[in-house]
Amino acid sequence: MSIGSAAAPLRIAIVGSGPSGFYAAEALLDSTLAVEVDMLERLPVPYGLVRHGVAPDHAKLKSVTGLFDGIARRDGFRFFGHVAMGRDVTAAQLQSMYHAVIVATGADGDRALGIPGEQLDGVHAAADFVGWYNGRPECAGLRFDLDQDVAAVIGQGNVAIDVCRLLATPVAALRSTDIASHALDALAASRVREIHLVGRRGPAQAKFTPKELRELGTLPGWQVIVDPADLELNEASRAEAADPASTFVAKNLQVLRGFAAQPRSAARAIHLRFQQAPVAVHGEGRVRALTLQRQWLEGPAGSQRAVPTRQEDRLEAGLVFRSVGYRGTGLPGLPFDAVRGVIPNAGGRVTDDGGTLLPGWYATGWIKRGPTGIIGTNRQDSVETVQRLVEDLPLLEAPRVGRAALQAALAGRGHRVISFDDWLLIEKAERSNGQRAGKVAEKFVDVACMLDAAQAARVEAAPC
Ligand code: NAP
Repeated sequence: MSIGSAAAPLRIAIVGSGPSGFYAAEALLDSTLAVEVDMLERLPVPYGLVRHGVAPDHAKLKSVTGLFDGIARRDGFRFFGHVAMGRDVTAAQLQSMYHAVIVATGADGDRALGIPGEQLDGVHAAADFVGWYNGRPECAGLRFDLDQDVAAVIGQGNVAIDVCRLLATPVAALRSTDIASHALDALAASRVREIHLVGRRGPAQAKFTPKELRELGTLPGWQVIVDPADLELNEASRAEAADPASTFVAKNLQVLRGFAAQPRSAARAIHLRFQQAPVAVHGEGRVRALTLQRQWLEGPAGSQRAVPTRQEDRLEAGLVFRSVGYRGTGLPGLPFDAVRGVIPNAGGRVTDDGGTLLPGWYATGWIKRGPTGIIGTNRQDSVETVQRLVEDLPLLEAPRVGRAALQAALAGRGHRVISFDDWLLIEKAERSNGQRAGKVAEKFVDVACMLDAAQAARVEAAPC
């Protein structure tokens, strides 16, 4: 009996319910094979970074969950919420239950700067701030001292822009979103007046995109300040700006020139600082200032590096966010490339540290390629992984029991599993709690509350 026939469906577990997990499920369900796809998610709620990463004022980006819901309703798909590999089921168990396992756990850690003073209070990972305002359970209890006048954000990607925009957006514009209430209350009392967005390379190398950059210039009461001297590009940067393959660079420069041309008029400012890298954080107990070292650019167009000069400036700032990239974390029982923060793989086929394939194991999304690209980038990435998996069908071990074996193992431990219908009940409760406060939704920020909400709604929905 060949795997993938109606009599012997291909049984796949996907670990993680963010975009790459859902796109992998879609690619499997779109194949000509008979497939059973079981998606495991450690939280009771799905969507990964779409729920806990996308900024609350970017509702349009979140609408991709409609597509994911459609995938979840397809025949052959099953959601196992509140089930974590390594906590509730081991890698070895999954391997014995399924023909293949696709790891789609994303990158929920962050990169450190590796400079003295970084551990001081008031220095935060941008990822924690993002998780905090988005109601991620692990971050809900964090505190950010928004009594400070000056904040610095290190890094010039779209996450840095998100952090900056959330600090500067009038709360009236956030009140109706699904921002966590604890964040809304704290931001309403914020005294932050100056934000410095610090990049080690130049404006032609910044990773943010024009739409996000332009949005910074629309925040009422705030002005984006750019030093015109920073826009004088070296030859390699001019070549980068003229490269038709990266049109966003020219567009970014155009937006930056617009900012640089405006005389200062607003009381509050976002300063875009280029070719400066933090080398030390100062303060006693908590951060008071940063030393920024001037950088010059070296190397050919497309791969210019920031090289330190001897020139240093002091930036007084009572709040610092490092936004220098997310980082994947390893999973018990699987190899992990600690330098790159990814599971080693060849086109999605998981390998050991030496490059030898681990049959039946696949990776997709940020845990496969690192934290790059937009939500849609994960679609192509997951299609590639699923293509490799389908090519490997003759090599996959059979038979496998799949879903029934997982259900039995979890039931044997009395583990509470959240189905997709349960999640829809949780979501309904979040929307109705939000409505009372004039918001799109009030997310539960506590796992126990999520489980209770599903339970309560189940009881309510049960026929008498
Ligand atoms: P990113 O785009 O990779 O940007 C990281 C930034 O950190 C870069 O400016 C990088 O500079 C800088 N950096 C790295 N190491 C540094 C160091 N040691 N010292 C100083 N600066 C350092 O990462 P991200 O902002 O976390 O975003 C991750 C992905 O999510 C991106 O693909 C992003 O586009 C996406 N995203 C999209 C949206 C949206 O579409 N609205 C929103 C948020 C995130 P170098 O270039 O010099 O390395």
